[in-house]
Amino acid sequence: MQRDEQIFELIEAEKERQLHGIELIASENFVSNQVMEAAGSVLTNKYAEGYPGKRYYGGCEVVDEVEQIAIDRAKTLFGAAYVNVQPHSGSQANTAVYHACLTPGDKILGFDLSHGGHLTHGSPVNFSGKLYDPVFYGVEQETGVLNYDKIQEIATKEQPKLIIAGASAYSRDIDFERFRVIADSVGAILLADISHPAGLIAKGILNDPLPHCHIVTTTTHKTLRGPRGGMIMMGQDFDNPFGITLKNGSLRKMSSLLDSAVFPGNQGGPLEHIIAAKAIAFGEALTDEFLHYQLQVKQNANAMANALVAKDYHIISGGTDNHMMLIDLRNKNVSGKDAEQALVKADITANKNMVPFDDKSPFVTSGIRLGTAAVTTRGLKEDDMIAIVELIDEVITNFDDEATLEAVKAKVNAMMKDKPLFV
Ligand code: PLP
Repeated sequence: MQRDEQIFELIEAEKERQLHGIELIASENFVSNQVMEAAGSVLTNKYAEGYPGKRYYGGCEVVDEVEQIAIDRAKTLFGAAYVNVQPHSGSQANTAVYHACLTPGDKILGFDLSHGGHLTHGSPVNFSGKLYDPVFYGVEQETGVLNYDKIQEIATKEQPKLIIAGASAYSRDIDFERFRVIADSVGAILLADISHPAGLIAKGILNDPLPHCHIVTTTTHKTLRGPRGGMIMMGQDFDNPFGITLKNGSLRKMSSLLDSAVFPGNQGGPLEHIIAAKAIAFGEALTDEFLHYQLQVKQNANAMANALVAKDYHIISGGTDNHMMLIDLRNKNVSGKDAEQALVKADITANKNMVPFDDKSPFVTSGIRLGTAAVTTRGLKEDDMIAIVELIDEVITNFDDEATLEAVKAKVNAMMKDKPLFV
């Protein structure tokens, strides 16, 4: 068969883009060579509907072992009693949880998308806002942080069946213990979506949701530095609270409901090549090296935030506890869209983002979101963050000056020249 040069040339072009640029998209990272190798392996050929030891296809002995290793490593990494590694993405992990816990029309309480939440936390353009009845909490306008008393008030008034704690653009640690008090006060199930800070949580750098939340979902490709994918966990199994009984009259366990919600509820065959890559990433995450990496991610984010504040950039909440920050650009007289486009011209990749109480549309926005997971994988340290802020500032203050953007691009390419792409 003829090699498909058209696609391979594009893959090469993307590799060059990744190599030469500064990657600040908070949800991205660079996986190791062995994670990449597993993701491109012969396991992509295998159908394996079902779970290890209980498949609907023959020939699953090898993938059974792979999937079990992924589950066991994730359990060790997060201290979980239950793990499902099959969700194809973070969104599908959340879909499965809603499917297991809710009936269409049920009320859910999530973090407002425009304040930092995710589409799957009840946005009207997403299944979560179409199938369920969403209400939202957000950050305080003055401080940019969550006010747990207000979340309690909303929960008491709205009586949701599920509360989602977690975000895509919130730079502060989340008090899962407090969220559990709120959930218990209204009899709601508490879901933590730790897609963004999962790597930091795995290494004990941020609050651990597992002891407090009924269910925890995550993506595997952000700070966790695995392949693109999702995962569902529980610190401990529990009887489902909605009275669905087994034939023998006992209540079905939530683990069983979650497994059924993933397959056959929402997905067919699991991606065993990706599950193998997840297993490798979890193995890497269990090392001390990964702890040092996560500590550096946080230190870099802190250094970047401080340098931005020193240049009069308005970071929502004033700083960061994790790997990311959300910047309100309104005092800089540039929209998120224009900032993103100018940064891309200078080979700096970031994404425009709504800021809390934004007066611009989601296509324009007043903010940008920055994260340090990817640049830290490339070996950059605090001094580099300060240098990057200089470059960002040059771009933002000259966002419509092509010559300046070209000059910054040359500096970006020089900075990244000797930095390996993969660990
Ligand atoms: N949940 C949160 C908090 C996220 O930030 C994201 C992705 O950005 C997701 C879920 C969805 O993940 P995916 O893009 O894999 O569907």
